[in-house]
Amino acid sequence: MQDNEHKQGKKIDITGKRFGRLVAIEEAYRIKEKTYWKCRCDCGQEVAICKSSLLYGQTRSCGCLKRELLIARNRAKRGVKIEDNKLYNSNL
Ligand SMILES: [Zn+2]
Repeated sequence: MQDNEHKQGKKIDITGKRFGRLVAIEEAYRIKEKTYWKCRCDCGQEVAICKSSLLYGQTRSCGCLKRELLIARNRAKRGVKIEDNKLYNSNL
């Protein structure tokens, strides 16, 4: 039984494996062909992620990575504005 499952490649145990910021905890649920895994993110949040998304590297965080990138981008923009103000003020 187990050998067949391995040959078909349907059952890959990813318990404890890390995918970016996510660590797979346990199989959460299935929807049709897709298996969702409960994962814990480095930020502490637990999310259910489709296993193929994990294996193909499409999902690497609970979403906090994207949020942090956005915040970093906004900060960079603000930084430019502050620099502009400084220049403006120094001209005065
Ligand atoms: Zn997170």
